[in-house]
Amino acid sequence: MLFPTTIAGSLPKPEWLAEPNILWAPWKAQGDELARAKRDATVLAVKIQEDAGIDIVTEGEQARQHFVHGFLEKIEGIDFAHKVEMGIRKDRYKAMVPQVVAPLQLKGRVHAGEALTARAHTRNRLKFTLPGPMTIIDTISDQYYGDRVKMAFAFAELLNQEAKALQADGVDMIQFDEPAFNVYMDEVRDWGIKALERAAEGLTCATAVHICYGYGIKANTDWKQTLGSEWRQYEETFPVIDKSTIQQVAIECRNSKVPIELLGALPAKIVQAGVIDVASDEVETPEDVVQVIEAVARHVPKSNIIATTNCGMAPMRRDIAEAKLLALGAGAKLARQRLG
Ligand code: ZN
Repeated sequence: MLFPTTIAGSLPKPEWLAEPNILWAPWKAQGDELARAKRDATVLAVKIQEDAGIDIVTEGEQARQHFVHGFLEKIEGIDFAHKVEMGIRKDRYKAMVPQVVAPLQLKGRVHAGEALTARAHTRNRLKFTLPGPMTIIDTISDQYYGDRVKMAFAFAELLNQEAKALQADGVDMIQFDEPAFNVYMDEVRDWGIKALERAAEGLTCATAVHICYGYGIKANTDWKQTLGSEWRQYEETFPVIDKSTIQQVAIECRNSKVPIELLGALPAKIVQAGVIDVASDEVETPEDVVQVIEAVARHVPKSNIIATTNCGMAPMRRDIAEAKLLALGAGAKLARQRLG
């Protein structure tokens, strides 16, 4: 089937699980009650995607507070009690981040609960997202390794352990989120891809990397204003990624200033093309979705295209996110009729 659909990863959380419309939203419950609320929200996230015609569903990232720190919380060697302020993505914004203070080691499974819950409630293919090593080290303070690359590879090893366990849980695709790849292009070439390959080593399920221009929050939309009329970050990273062992690349296309012909630099990859804008509350029409798919198809073989959202939908309003999912499902269906 042409143009299967998926989402970048996250969906908004219901207001009974966490405070709506913000990142790092505080949980509404604790202990067993929180565990039950996360489980219920995970089942709901899967169901909403299925009903919208999403073929490769995720657990909606309902069980983690943030896409990076959800992973970090289960790692030994990190001090969460003493957070420090750090500039993120070359000082695009400041955040209070935990510190690495000792050798890193997994305390146990990180995402087993939500992966198994999602697996038990859908027959669709299941994708699971993890933060990539470069993005992790750009979101945490180092008081132990004294070397960014060394710390990135330490995280890559832990990611690999969890990714293999997720595969054993029945996950069909592991996607590493690397927004930092659009910021540190030299480092991507020097060690970023290698760290990512280490994180994906030995996986037999599908593997993907998501490289975006971020959630639709103000710090990101302001940053985009500084990038000029053409965003050419992908031009440097795509040729390197194309030679890597990672099979799929998820990128943003809808309402993006990325010159679409840059996708031609990924001949060996499946392209997850973002056809839904997450930085705008305006809901796309199926026709809008078809237009982006058509544009992508001029540079990527049709059989290599998956339709997705530009980025996660975590901070969006639920009704808007759900309407956008419906547009994605309907748009991909229409594209199949037109271009199939
Ligand atoms: Zn993203």
